[in-house]
Amino acid sequence: MDDIARHVDLANLTDEEEVVDLSADESGQALYQFVVDMYPICRSITGDGVRRTIDLIRNYIPLTTCEVPSGLQVFDWTVPPEWNVRDAYIKNSAGERVVDFKRSNLHLLNYSVPVRARMTLDELKPHLYTDPEKPDWIPYRTSYYKATWGFCLPHNQLLAMREDDYEVCVDASLGPGHLTYGELRVPGRTSEEVLISCHICHPSMCNDNLSGIAVATALAQHLCNMEPRYTYRFLFVPGTIGSITWLALNEARVGRVKHGFVLTCVGDPGPMTYKRSRRGNTEIDRAWSYVLEQCADPHEIQDFSPYGYDERQYCSPGFDLPIGTVMRTPFGKFAEYHSSADNLDFVRPDALRDTLSKVIATIDIIENNMYYRSVKPFCEPRLGIYGLYSGLGGLAAGDFQLALLWVLNMSDGENSLLDIAERARLSWGTIKKAAVALSEAGLIRSS
Ligand code: ZN
Repeated sequence: MDDIARHVDLANLTDEEEVVDLSADESGQALYQFVVDMYPICRSITGDGVRRTIDLIRNYIPLTTCEVPSGLQVFDWTVPPEWNVRDAYIKNSAGERVVDFKRSNLHLLNYSVPVRARMTLDELKPHLYTDPEKPDWIPYRTSYYKATWGFCLPHNQLLAMREDDYEVCVDASLGPGHLTYGELRVPGRTSEEVLISCHICHPSMCNDNLSGIAVATALAQHLCNMEPRYTYRFLFVPGTIGSITWLALNEARVGRVKHGFVLTCVGDPGPMTYKRSRRGNTEIDRAWSYVLEQCADPHEIQDFSPYGYDERQYCSPGFDLPIGTVMRTPFGKFAEYHSSADNLDFVRPDALRDTLSKVIATIDIIENNMYYRSVKPFCEPRLGIYGLYSGLGGLAAGDFQLALLWVLNMSDGENSLLDIAERARLSWGTIKKAAVALSEAGLIRSS
């Protein structure tokens, strides 16, 4: 990978700068502000918008910027030419910008080739994209792999356009350059890895995909503040072509990935959704199901399908990685999806924070999901001797007493703490506390 991807390592975290800890943000306001700061940037699958986005993330975590040259073959795909846009507009004969990229970057068909022309409304119309079902919103449309140009606008605005002599300008460049992505490795006590991935290729939209970037950045900060068991690898990649490129360049190290998930659409007020990995019953699938089932909030657990975001690549049969997808309302299921209405009003600080809390709860499970073996497996040990019996007989056992009995009974080296928590239907915190107490009392040993 080092031969091909040009790494730009400009650690811009300095001691003097006060770095906001997004993971410590109980209200979600800092996460929301992160989305606000990223919102105006015109992103695509390549170009300066992606670089600017990675630079902003680097204010929080020491992300490495990787640059992969256009034209590189990656499995069945080719790294595309780099796209950058300076300006784009449609002017009427009075010289007024009736459609203006500078007002909203969604107005430009993403990856439009450059054009300067004058034309009639009829000549212009094949290049105009609207959504008649949502007539006041600008739809988000792309043309990454077909060389064309176009503008996106509210359907009602199109209906109001009159015959005129229009001036069209797309001041963009499309040529040899690089595909840019960000990567962060947080070293753990083992070389086994957890892969966290989010896409960074959408222009001004918030739930898809700034929310995923915000929560991934906060999780990286959380992990940088602890000494994790696993090594964590964070990928901030353009959708599809970015994950394909990373997998092509890192095929040799993919075997280290033991768990992972994709984060996308995690800032809307809808309930949490977890989409299982292709294998369907991996530890990460079970940890997420357990976290969502333990909390009282509504949620949905979906089976894997080969339609969605970068899980399609990670879960392609040649890799078949244990990687699920974390969402709130799934992509395509909210009306605002891929439109100008996926804006700063649609994502909520409390929803961002709620997602982050559940992500951290799931990470806590995989970090601490150990196997133990009882030191005294013949009949129950006498807990009072070890200071682990609550005292009075006759009272119904509390959760902690139950957790002690469950962990003692099930710790035969074959059941992990998650197996025990699922079977006992007790909270992860209680099971973990019981395992610590029994381990300190010398009654169980990790196996
Ligand atoms: Zn999208």
